[in-house]
Amino acid sequence: MSSAFVYQSLPAKIIFGTGAVSTLTTELQQLGRSKALVLSTPQQQEAAQQLAQQLGPLCAGLFSQATMHTPVEITAQALQTYESCQADCVISFGGGSTIGLGKALAYRINTTHIAIPTTYAGSEVTPILGQTENKQKTTVRHPRILPNVVIYDPDLSLHLPVEMSITSGLNAMAHAIEALYAQDRNPISTAMAIQGVQALVSALPVLVKEPHQVQARSDALLGAWLCGTVLGTVGMSLHHKLCHTLGGSFNLPHAQTHAVLLPHSLAYNAKAAASQLHALQSILGSDLALSLYELAQSLGAPLTLKELGLNEADLDQAAYIATQTPYWSPRPLEQHAVRAMLERAWAGSAPQTDA
Ligand code: NAD
Repeated sequence: MSSAFVYQSLPAKIIFGTGAVSTLTTELQQLGRSKALVLSTPQQQEAAQQLAQQLGPLCAGLFSQATMHTPVEITAQALQTYESCQADCVISFGGGSTIGLGKALAYRINTTHIAIPTTYAGSEVTPILGQTENKQKTTVRHPRILPNVVIYDPDLSLHLPVEMSITSGLNAMAHAIEALYAQDRNPISTAMAIQGVQALVSALPVLVKEPHQVQARSDALLGAWLCGTVLGTVGMSLHHKLCHTLGGSFNLPHAQTHAVLLPHSLAYNAKAAASQLHALQSILGSDLALSLYELAQSLGAPLTLKELGLNEADLDQAAYIATQTPYWSPRPLEQHAVRAMLERAWAGSAPQTDA
């Protein structure tokens, strides 16, 4: 007998496929928008400029200062640009940092937002905005935050560096893995999560060898959509709480932090959520945490929080912050156990499934 559940789908228009970015003008017209502010990071300014040129008169301006963890000061600057160029919508072109900025603007001024993701972070399909103020990262969930249209074009991720492709793919897998044991999971989120993990586990090893293989890029992007969608529909847990703590309070890089922590947070919950995680064994292996750790190692992902810049002396504070306002977790967040887990992730030891 199936368990009882509540399922609420989110509105989504997804345009997926090689060359899909060419539909942008039509999408703008269908939305009744004619003055787009294009957003990017400084690193993707050139590609965003090309996109702006392709839009011609439909582009009102370019703001290329998007920054990881969505600092509120950058959002304020982007708002000024939006107002001074009299834009009537935003187009975020890039990874989760740029899409986060687009979401921050849509949340504040209720503007139309088209997202064009170029990483696998999955932010484009969640109504969640994480933003940072005074070194604290907080999240807000609101229907206005969800982009109106998402254009997934695998060609745009062809030049995503391999290291970033791998860590970003592991970031996406983290959404799916936590969705499997979320309190509010349902049969649809579970099916999407499993398929998302499967797509990424198949695609990532290929991308290490052939970063420009369109089929693998396409599979990874499909996985990112599936994993992001489940993050948007069910609650987050221990793993995301720790990543938000390390990103917001210690400025650790987002995808890399997810990649290092995922085997350890999976180990933390492995026994408490054994039945929910069981379906992953046919994809990853029977010892889920260890298999994931070995997969990350074989893909060349970072394995230590130390190499990401966290000081050992910060581990106490990180465990304290993460357990003060915890997200629900199958195994409750115990400060000493979280501290021990963080220490293993800091040093790069193999994950330990205990308790
Ligand atoms: P990112 O957006 O910061 O991108 C990392 C770097 O890669 C940037 O310099 C970017 O310009 C560059 N880059 C991106 N795509 C590229 C491409 N195709 N080719 C070359 N360079 C490229 O990293 P990210 O991991 O995608 O996003 C991290 C941010 O997203 C964090 O702030 C995180 O909190 C947020 N996020 C939010 C959610 C959510 O649902 N709210 C989900 C996931 C991530």
